[in-house]
Amino acid sequence: MEKKYPIEKTDAEWRKELTPEQYKVMREKGTERAFTGAYVDNHDKGMYRCAACGEPLFDSDTKFDSGSGWPSFFKPLSADAVETEDDRSHGMRRTEVMCKKCGAHLGHVFDDGPKPTGQRFCINSISLDFEKKGA
Ligand code: FE
Repeated sequence: MEKKYPIEKTDAEWRKELTPEQYKVMREKGTERAFTGAYVDNHDKGMYRCAACGEPLFDSDTKFDSGSGWPSFFKPLSADAVETEDDRSHGMRRTEVMCKKCGAHLGHVFDDGPKPTGQRFCINSISLDFEKKGA
């Protein structure tokens, strides 16, 4: 089978590497409950990496308080960091955001974000690992 992502693992491997909660969100496209994630109110400077493969995805400089209950960013680290896909599940029309390196589900992107991009990347804390600057 042709590889879609640079990092691809079997279902069994992902189940072994991720916690059950991470697996549910990152491999089964689940959503953590609002205001429960570790990074909702994190204001430290640093880098948010993919919790599955370690790829740097979002810089703390692009994080803002959206009030949604999930960590929110107005842009990804680069256009190469994430990919998006049309998502029509749960009776909604949304745009899903995935890690471009391993395909892990991260969250969704909406067009009601702040300047300069007008985008709001609504990301599950559990899909991210925060690396504090200088730590
Ligand atoms: Fe990843």
